[in-house]
Amino acid sequence: MNENEIRLLVEKQRDYFRTGATLNASFRINALKRLRDCIQKNEVEITDALRKDLGKSAHESYMCEIGMTLSEITYMIRHIRSFSRERRVRTPLAQFHSRSFVKPSPYGVVLIMSPWNYPFMLSLEPLVDALAAGNTAIIKPSAYSPATSAVISKIIEECFIEEHVATVTGGRSENTALLNQHFDYIFFTGSQSVGKIVMEKAASHLTPVTLELGGKSPCIVDETANLKLAAKRIVFGKYLNCGQTCVAPDYIYCDSRVRDELVEEIKKQIRRQYGKQPLKNKKYGKIINEKHFDRINGLIDQAKVVCGGNSDADTYKIEPTVMTDVTFQDAVMQEEIFGPVMPILTYDSIDEAIVKINSMAHPLALYLFSSSKENQEKVTSRCGFGGGCINDTIIHLATSEMCFGGFGESGMGSYHGKEGFRTFSHYKSIVDKKTWLDLPMRYQPYRKINDKLIRFFMK
Ligand code: NAD
Repeated sequence: MNENEIRLLVEKQRDYFRTGATLNASFRINALKRLRDCIQKNEVEITDALRKDLGKSAHESYMCEIGMTLSEITYMIRHIRSFSRERRVRTPLAQFHSRSFVKPSPYGVVLIMSPWNYPFMLSLEPLVDALAAGNTAIIKPSAYSPATSAVISKIIEECFIEEHVATVTGGRSENTALLNQHFDYIFFTGSQSVGKIVMEKAASHLTPVTLELGGKSPCIVDETANLKLAAKRIVFGKYLNCGQTCVAPDYIYCDSRVRDELVEEIKKQIRRQYGKQPLKNKKYGKIINEKHFDRINGLIDQAKVVCGGNSDADTYKIEPTVMTDVTFQDAVMQEEIFGPVMPILTYDSIDEAIVKINSMAHPLALYLFSSSKENQEKVTSRCGFGGGCINDTIIHLATSEMCFGGFGESGMGSYHGKEGFRTFSHYKSIVDKKTWLDLPMRYQPYRKINDKLIRFFMK
């Protein structure tokens, strides 16, 4: 699509939004039901596309993309009516007699830009929240996952008129053309560097944004942790989708006393979960493209590898890799890894670990493996991070009951469940003032008695 076509599409959606069609709760519920049915009907195509783009197995595709999207739809269908209701609030006595209420209203035309790593879920989950709140939407999936983008376009065309929901595919020129338009809300998931561009472009129209970004998410393992279980759950979270997960534990930061045992457990788990030859495991995915394959290989310091380290340039697969004796100065610690490489660093006290983590950019996620209540409390209260788990990895985002989002450099705003509905709604505060009484104290001329009354009511 060229810039003019994109501009016309935004105008069409704005005109449609202004008809008020999307304000009706039943309309929104029906839209989500159509989307749910269509996703279910196209499950095989979605799975095939994810296999093509990322080598994802059917199990992982359902668990991490299709199933999560369907759960969000089910949750929203169940809650749309209550979320979209006006809420009465108390009125201060000075404004007697009135009814005060807060009325959720959709923003209007929303742009959703998504990355390639969970291309289906990260395009459709924000869409579900945006539609539940009554917006129209344009989705822009990543050019790096073209098969999934094609199936998303097909599903959207099947379910919606383009005035309501549309997909724009393509690359740089489409991204630029989209960001030149005046949207009412922009929901962006991707890297910090592109997040800055999006925010800058949005600022020119004073468009509010949610930025779901990434960063280096630490995984702390203290001396009280159950190391066997920690290793099992860390290996799951790190190597799922070949480490191309925004909330994957980026590095392990462990108590120096438990490091050797932890490394041994991790090696065992890699073997148990991915087999002796992970490069031949058909259910172990691949790196998205050559650029990222080369970038990740460049972060592997063979002298520090204690497990894995090999790769296959024909299939873009990289073995689940573990590196020890890594320092914060190493190349692998200078950027978000976003691949199956796990550096292990050590600390001598939990306080030292907290200070170090807080001196770095705020991560999207933080994980703590510990059975010490004191350490759990210390880390969760003193470290800044988007969200996380105690004694597990990544599962905190697999729920519609809690919001998901970053903090500081890892993003702003959040979504999923009720918070998703709130993100895509503006809450109008309205006072419905009754006409049978009109208290005099606010009007000129200001008399002594008015002054006394004001002081009586306002203290
Ligand atoms: P990216 O920032 O390169 O791309 C994201 C989207 O922006 C894509 O749709 C892309 O087409 C578009 N884009 C790219 N360059 C652009 C530009 N110059 N102007 C306008 N749009 C542009 O990110 P990515 O490589 O697709 O994804 C990886 C990053 O996303 C990682 O940092 C990861 O942590 C983050 N991420 C975050 C979350 C989250 O929920 N917080 C989820 C997944 C990925």
